[in-house]
Amino acid sequence: MSKDERYDVVVVGGGHNGMTTAAYLAKCGLNVCVLEERTECGGPCETVEPLAGVRIYPHAMLMYGAPAPGFEQLELWKYGFRMSWSPMELMHSMGGIGQPTTAGIEPAGPKDMEGFAKLCGLASATPYLKDLLRATFWCPPHPPEIEVTDHNVPYMQVYKQHQPDVWTGELREWTMFDLLDEHMETESLKTTLAFSAWASGAAGHWEGVAIPSFLSTVLIMIAGKLSIPRGGLHGYFHAIHRCAVSHGVTVRTCCPVDEILVQDGRAVGVRLAEDAAWGAKKIWANKAVIANTDFKQTFQKLIGRQHLDASFLQRIKDISLKGGSLYVSTLHTREPMRWRPKYKAMEELAVGKHKNPFGGVYPTDSREIYFENVADAEGHRGMPKVPAERLMWFLTPTQAFDLSDCQGYHPKGYISAAFEVNVPPPEYHVDGPEAVDKVKDEMNAFMRKAFGQVFEGLEDENVIHHWAATPYEAEFRHSGLIGGTWCGTRHCRDQLWTQRPLPELARYRTPIDGLYHAHQTTGHPGALCLMAIPYNLMHILIEDGIAEPGEWWYPSPWYIPETGKRSADPRK
Ligand SMILES: Cc1cc2nc3c(=O)[nH]c(=O)nc-3n(C[C@H](O)[C@H](O)[C@H](O)COP(=O)(O)OP(=O)(O)OC[C@H]3O[C@@H](n4cnc5c(N)ncnc54)[C@H](O)[C@@H]3O)c2cc1C
Repeated sequence: MSKDERYDVVVVGGGHNGMTTAAYLAKCGLNVCVLEERTECGGPCETVEPLAGVRIYPHAMLMYGAPAPGFEQLELWKYGFRMSWSPMELMHSMGGIGQPTTAGIEPAGPKDMEGFAKLCGLASATPYLKDLLRATFWCPPHPPEIEVTDHNVPYMQVYKQHQPDVWTGELREWTMFDLLDEHMETESLKTTLAFSAWASGAAGHWEGVAIPSFLSTVLIMIAGKLSIPRGGLHGYFHAIHRCAVSHGVTVRTCCPVDEILVQDGRAVGVRLAEDAAWGAKKIWANKAVIANTDFKQTFQKLIGRQHLDASFLQRIKDISLKGGSLYVSTLHTREPMRWRPKYKAMEELAVGKHKNPFGGVYPTDSREIYFENVADAEGHRGMPKVPAERLMWFLTPTQAFDLSDCQGYHPKGYISAAFEVNVPPPEYHVDGPEAVDKVKDEMNAFMRKAFGQVFEGLEDENVIHHWAATPYEAEFRHSGLIGGTWCGTRHCRDQLWTQRPLPELARYRTPIDGLYHAHQTTGHPGALCLMAIPYNLMHILIEDGIAEPGEWWYPSPWYIPETGKRSADPRK
């Protein structure tokens, strides 16, 4: 039997971007193979069971993808996708209850609520939130021959049409703090939003990305309603996996790819590692190879140097990922955690049978605290210098309001939602990549002290387990993660749109013909905007004559076809 196989398209990596791209292409009638090196696909969209019966999310959990056209185009409801919609009302939580500061809870005022609603597109007679989010994240970057101006950036077009008083020349220069200072008044709310943005992609202090930063928080808070897909992000991934398989995709796990084969400047297939579980050592691709692997691995390891320009390789090497990583803690306690008396009003947000504390950022007193934490993660890049009392953290939502869901209940004890703290990426830690893991017990105790500023129940005698996923562990488990996090963020203004990660890669094409990339670290807008990279990439694959979708396809209304190419918009 020949060991070689042939498909139309080979996808390297079975993360959610790789599998979604495979599903889209198979739905176009193409013969697609996904090769995944781990025993299971899904990358960090995974659930783990640290104790029998306790299922927690060490990495991805929140729904950043609510406006994605992929839900309709791939008909994910047919393949088991369901949401557990949280009962929490965000506007009430911000304005009616407030943000926890060291002095107590500070509610947002009417100007904040008006400004927030206006920036989200919810204040006008015809709300345009979905359009705004799609324009910002679910639209491919403009082609290189188009000069990017205040008039053609998609979110600028949406504001200009619906909310001309928000559209200003500075909007594309500002940080998110500048934007919030213009439209809101309460510092604790601004600090909460900036911190949420830092943990969601483009941080609150980065210049030139005010709107993408702001909208990354809106994605989870308003569009995603602080809710989690049923079965977590792994449950969401299962729906995509089933969709791909039902359209005919062949998925092979335990199949690490060692090389992307290039002939005459064109990607023609891949070579599997010697120890791959599947016998075929070369898998050929008639039309395209899609790399769902990070750009460092793709260009520095999988493609031979002889196929790439030395200056291109140097620029790949120079891309910095120092944006920050998340340290994720989940606690198992004897008695439930409770808000301290000063924060009693927050109990209104508790959900489920056990009244699990839900959501929230602390401490939110002022942006000075935010900047102290940023300085630790992005500046000193060592162990935290901020005292535990000023360590900023985010308590994610929980699904414990729904008794049948996997997170939150255990017969012996109480399971918290996850706490997330920004820490330096392992690669940039001054004491080496393993530094945090070597002192994990001390780090955990420090974190509990920080969370304990607000919660009772984190005393040593009440804590049965503290499960912590460090960025280094995340990278060890997922070869797809670099920079210890989900977005491989860089602290610079070219985070998104036509610059990411290099201008010539921005439209998902690479210097190798027939090789495209579909990975969080590389593509606009990063992985958190679920199905955005595959949807945006589809425009490019149609332009290049690789994919020919049916009637179900609709392109982004803000998409501009590349000169000389076939348009992905049948009307243009
Ligand atoms: C702490 C943390 C919190 C997060 N929170 C959220 C959240 O709340 N919501 C959200 O939507 N997302 C979240 N994410 C992000 C999200 O889970 C990931 O960013 C996303 O899964 C990345 O998708 P991807 O397909 O681009 O890459 P990956 O999932 O990294 O996929 C790449 C795949 O390629 C495989 N691979 C690598 N090299 C090879 C090779 N040589 N051969 C074959 N296979 C290979 C990998 O095993 C992996 O399966 C979080 C991530 C982290 C770490």
